[in-house]
Amino acid sequence: DRPPRLHRQFVHLNNDNGAPNSPVRVMQWNILAQALGEGVDNFVRCPLDALCWSQRKCLLLEEILTYRPHILCLQEVDHYYDTFEPVLAGLGYSGHFCPKPYSPCLDVEGNNGPDGCALFYDRSRFELLDSTSTRLYAIMIPTNQVAVVTTLRCRITGNFVCVAVTHLKARSGWEWLRSAQGSDLLWQLQNLTNKLSAGLGDDNIPLLICGDFNAVPTEDVYRHFAVSPLGLDSAYKKLSQDGSTEPKYTSWKIRATGECCSTLDYIWYTKDTLRVNAVLDMPTEEQIGPDRLPSYSYPSDHLSLVCDFTFREKE
Ligand code: NDP
Ligand code: CA
Repeated sequence: DRPPRLHRQFVHLNNDNGAPNSPVRVMQWNILAQALGEGVDNFVRCPLDALCWSQRKCLLLEEILTYRPHILCLQEVDHYYDTFEPVLAGLGYSGHFCPKPYSPCLDVEGNNGPDGCALFYDRSRFELLDSTSTRLYAIMIPTNQVAVVTTLRCRITGNFVCVAVTHLKARSGWEWLRSAQGSDLLWQLQNLTNKLSAGLGDDNIPLLICGDFNAVPTEDVYRHFAVSPLGLDSAYKKLSQDGSTEPKYTSWKIRATGECCSTLDYIWYTKDTLRVNAVLDMPTEEQIGPDRLPSYSYPSDHLSLVCDFTFREKE
């Protein structure tokens, strides 16, 4: 007997100007590393049964298959080689994985290897141009946080798109480090897109940056992204009435230390080159339930973010 799944709907922004070029669906999700969920997270209101890998694996894959994104950005992946890579390959995806250099998963007994960031794309929709894994630096020192950056070409429209996935340093007290890591990522992406522009003869390559930033919208790192010369905006603001407010939460959990309900995850996009057509809404507090996440019906403490984008016509 399985509990009901969260039922979420797409909010369509009705801004496609009668140009129904088939949108690109992007998913951002911190899937909760198996070793961390069972070993150290201490989700005191989640039964251990609900955290076992055989249960979670099905729910994680089910969530991905429910939305079938063309681009899938994941954090806390500690089952890349034995699960996600082979299963998703069979479903038409290709992926790249970058483990964290000193993954906290490795401290958990019976772990399945380091966790890291993974980026998958639908091979029938995109052709791979380049993919690199990169370490994030702060004050010239390499940190324990990484990013995967993949450049793709859309097989329908011919547009290029550069996609990055990252997972910034967690916990309070580390705001300065997240800020430095975010600035380094922006700097690295600026360099990469400059090089790509020169090589591809296209001076305005669309950019998507998906991540668990571990930062609420009032933090410095969020502001760096919002005012960056790359011209970025955060897609989930489109869910709000005024179009300029982030959701109330993207992660909601109860640890021994208390309840934590906060917005930490984002999909950034270049507003000159991409348009948001639809956004998957966030489940209500009631749908999430009194024990919050993860649960028997949802396998991570972070909710997935899913958006449909179209390429803007060149002016
Ligand atoms: P982070 O602080 O970024 O957090 C790692 C993970 O812990 C995240 O996935 C985070 O999840 C989760 N987390 C956040 N808050 C809590 C909490 N209250 N309770 C339990 N889990 C939580 O870790 P680092 O990347 O800095 O790595 C730390 C680990 O790396 C240590 O275990 C250390 O042993 C090792 N390390 C080793 C080094 C070496 O030289 N050997 C150097 C550096 C680190 P979320 O993002 O969802 O919040
Ligand atoms: Ca986590």
